Amino acid sequence: MSGKNYCIWRKGINLTDVIILKNINKVYPGSKETAVSDFSVEVKDGEFLCLIGPSGCGKSTVLKMIAGLEKPTNGSIEKPLSVGMVFQSGALLPWLTVEENVAFPLYAKGLSKEKAEDLTNKYVQMVNLGEYKLKYPRELSGGQKQRVGIARALAVEPPVLLLDEPFSALDPITTDEMHSYLLKIWKETGKTIVMVSHSMEEAIILADKIAIMKEGKLKKIIDVELKRPRQEEEKNFITFLEEIKLELNS
Ligand code: ADP
Ligand code: MG
Repeated sequence: MSGKNYCIWRKGINLTDVIILKNINKVYPGSKETAVSDFSVEVKDGEFLCLIGPSGCGKSTVLKMIAGLEKPTNGSIEKPLSVGMVFQSGALLPWLTVEENVAFPLYAKGLSKEKAEDLTNKYVQMVNLGEYKLKYPRELSGGQKQRVGIARALAVEPPVLLLDEPFSALDPITTDEMHSYLLKIWKETGKTIVMVSHSMEEAIILADKIAIMKEGKLKKIIDVELKRPRQEEEKNFITFLEEIKLELNS
């Protein structure tokens, strides 16, 4: 199901919103703390949203609720049935090759061998790993492993791609490369992306919209109206950075 089709059959709401979180609260069972408090956000079709904030502020919890891996205690969530998720570690199965890792969820969904192979080839090519498709995860660099993780999430063709600090274990040069890959894929596929990041710079490089969280609450949403590719030296880049720092320190 494409993002656009999904929007057509939902009635009574803004047709271009793909994800709508309304007044979400999350208290984990057995916990006294509120992990996420009165959190609301809308993400439009094809938009790139970054969630940032200090460790423990509830970013992953929000992402897991969008993924359907956690339920909110209160509040409502509208989202497509199918979402793709990319994890920090890549979460590849070590005994499977690159192409088998990408194909795995497709066979799990019951697709035919032919269809699964087509989709696997398409997305392995998209992340430029065609030459590596018979390699095992242990034979790949950190960046390559993350590209397999992205290909696997894309292969089920979900309208929404969710990423939880996907590049935080990579060196700075590889991280820059991964940003270019992700922006290229985003442009080619038109996916709606929600990504958790611990880096303000990464959020400004990638996102249309940055949601700043602190202690479970949404502090501010910033629209990053800068042309891509974005450079950290640009005056406007620095202005956004200052704005985020101010918000996080207030
Ligand atoms: P972030 O991703 O911003 O670092 P998390 O969403 O992981 O933050 O965590 C938010 C809060 O919820 C933290 O206080 C964390 O300890 C708590 N938390 C996260 N996952 C669980 C869980 N499965 N059970 C209980 N508490 C949790
Ligand atoms: Mg987290």
